[in-house]
Amino acid sequence: MRILLVEDEPSLGTWLSRALEHAGIQVEWVGDGRLADRALQQHDYDALVLDLGLPGLDGHSVLRRLRERDQRLPALILTARASLDERVHALNAGADDFLAKPFELAELEARLHALVRRARGTEHPRLACGPLVFDGVRKQFALHGEPLPLSPREQAVLRVLVQRSGEPFSKQQILERVFSDDEDVHPEAVEVFVHRLRKRLDGSGVRIVTLRGLGYALESD
Ligand code: CA
Repeated sequence: MRILLVEDEPSLGTWLSRALEHAGIQVEWVGDGRLADRALQQHDYDALVLDLGLPGLDGHSVLRRLRERDQRLPALILTARASLDERVHALNAGADDFLAKPFELAELEARLHALVRRARGTEHPRLACGPLVFDGVRKQFALHGEPLPLSPREQAVLRVLVQRSGEPFSKQQILERVFSDDEDVHPEAVEVFVHRLRKRLDGSGVRIVTLRGLGYALESD
């Protein structure tokens, strides 16, 4: 999971990005509303964690612009202002969930996972493409009911593709979801993983197709 964290309080931002990264969530952190607005137009995220009081552009405006662009990214609002009015206002502006400061990390984590699950659930009730199924409990893929042995990176790439099977992901989009920002990886690395995955899926009825100019997509017979 890759999220955009928008929080202008340096201590909270630092702590949150470290703690969430530690929990296996890839975090891009910005402290300014305008930067957030730009990042949301340039990159793909699985969720947005947004503070309301921000320099540059306030959280409500960031959210409003996001929804005006018809981006359906799940948004969780972090705020000290936990009044009913604030909540109603933010929910009307397109927020999916709320968390009042101070909060427990475990609660933020649980809510984020729930939001992303819900967002994915509306498209695919389970992570599957034909005979290929991702078992979220065992955290591994099965093909025709048999466990599919994959390296962690191969599995991560396949998880990206299976989330929206049939839809293309560019190398850059895959890269952003599989590797953290501080890893120096070339988009061509994705080709290597796709090549290996194709071998593993060979003859199974599931395949990774290349859509020229768009990227890779997972398809089944
Ligand atoms: Ca703030």
